[in-house]
Amino acid sequence: MELDVAIIGAGAAGIAAARRLRDRGRRVLLIEAMRRVGGRAHTTMVEGMPLDLGCGWLHSAERNPLARFAEAEEVAIDRSDAAWGKQLHNLGFSAAEQHEAWAAFEMFERSLGENPPANDCAGDAIARGHPWRGFLDMLSGALNGAELDLVSARDFLAYDGHASQTNWRLPGGMGNLIADAAAGLPLSLATSVTAVDHGGATVRIGTERGTIEAQAVIVAVPTDILARGDITFTPAVDEHLHAAARLPLGRVDKLFLAFADAEAIPAEAHLLGKPRSALTGSYYMRPFGRPVIECFFGGIAARAMADAGDAGRTAFAIEELGVLLGGDFARGLRPELRDERRDLHPLIDGGVVHEVVDGPVRRDGRVGHRLGRLGRGNVDADEPRRAARLGDFRGDTRPLRLVHVGYDDARPLGREPFGVGLADALPRAGDDRDSLIQASHGRQENTDACR
Ligand SMILES: Cc1cc2nc3c(=O)[nH]c(=O)nc-3n(C[C@H](O)[C@H](O)[C@H](O)COP(=O)(O)OP(=O)(O)OC[C@H]3O[C@@H](n4cnc5c(N)ncnc54)[C@H](O)[C@@H]3O)c2cc1C
Repeated sequence: MELDVAIIGAGAAGIAAARRLRDRGRRVLLIEAMRRVGGRAHTTMVEGMPLDLGCGWLHSAERNPLARFAEAEEVAIDRSDAAWGKQLHNLGFSAAEQHEAWAAFEMFERSLGENPPANDCAGDAIARGHPWRGFLDMLSGALNGAELDLVSARDFLAYDGHASQTNWRLPGGMGNLIADAAAGLPLSLATSVTAVDHGGATVRIGTERGTIEAQAVIVAVPTDILARGDITFTPAVDEHLHAAARLPLGRVDKLFLAFADAEAIPAEAHLLGKPRSALTGSYYMRPFGRPVIECFFGGIAARAMADAGDAGRTAFAIEELGVLLGGDFARGLRPELRDERRDLHPLIDGGVVHEVVDGPVRRDGRVGHRLGRLGRGNVDADEPRRAARLGDFRGDTRPLRLVHVGYDDARPLGREPFGVGLADALPRAGDDRDSLIQASHGRQENTDACR
């Protein structure tokens, strides 16, 4: 089949781009390295329960396009308030302490906005010895997958400062929603792309299973994959790869624990293991009333859990829960429902993208800067035109026929995720290639790499 567009990566971003293009009559192929679609969106069925091992929350749901999509698909949505931010029976975290901790967070965000650190390091906005520093690093771990010292102050604000408090879930699984969205799309699974040659009349995509040719390519793999050079680009797109390196994936990780006595603890409750430490877990008790605890680790805690391995992190979670809920309860926890994210490694290892603190790439004022600001927190209310500027990037020597899309960038923005602009802009098959180039190029503000 002659292809208009090959899309590398069948995560949320790649699937959405493929749907959009297909709906406009383009001939597309999704090329995915794993044996399944969905990427970091992945629901697995365990004892009849759809458990999300990857993303599970529709953040800023009132303007989250995935929420609109779920509604259109008539998928059940749980709109009840999230239990985060509360501590079940104030265990190990008194009401006064919770008040102090959240006040510290508000103070921190205010300080980021009013008196941003000159070096752009979010960690410099609050004293390292502050009594709630560990709590704030834990929050940053959950939001960015990295503690404050590793995160750009501007990016932190651009993301969290624009997020709403409306967070919804899908009882049937976010991973299932994304995977179902791929139904009917032309797909090549278990096909790892190793090279993209976009210098000739067509784009040639080298895979372990042979070469695929298309008029254009959309690269929808995580920034880390680009940065570490898994895919070779000819001609080189070093500035893009450099920019991707400045927008790494932070790490978040999940583990599910099951317990026999479903009534032992209230449903939809939350516990933070050690409120003053970043090296702790966030435990969501009985989501949807199910007899499980969803254990979530971010940043330094997620990295520690990765090092600890399955047994180590299960023991860690059980120990933290035991301190709060008592040894008897903890002894009844079964680690059978452990995270199966091994399946995700190494192609989508990591979690959520965050912008690193200011560095040479940015100071150069080169694409790393622009791409950086077009990351997760891009195009915020203060900088509505900033996105358009990405269109300036031509690699200086040639137009682009290669676009990188990611889902994360759409997350806080309420923008339609991934690939929208490109799909609208791409001419139909048979149109001349220059217009294809110009069209895709001119619309990158909606699609390019972004993060
Ligand atoms: C544990 C966890 C919890 C999260 N929770 C939330 C949440 O609650 N809410 C939220 O909004 N977000 C959450 N996220 C983030 C969210 O999952 C991601 O932002 C989103 O799924 C990214 O989609 P994507 O399409 O950009 O990338 P991915 O989902 O990473 O898709 C990229 C795809 O590219 C494929 N690929 C990589 N290299 C190659 C190659 N060489 N050749 C071919 N294919 C390749 C990968 O296999 C993968 O399928 C969470 C992430 C994790 C890990």
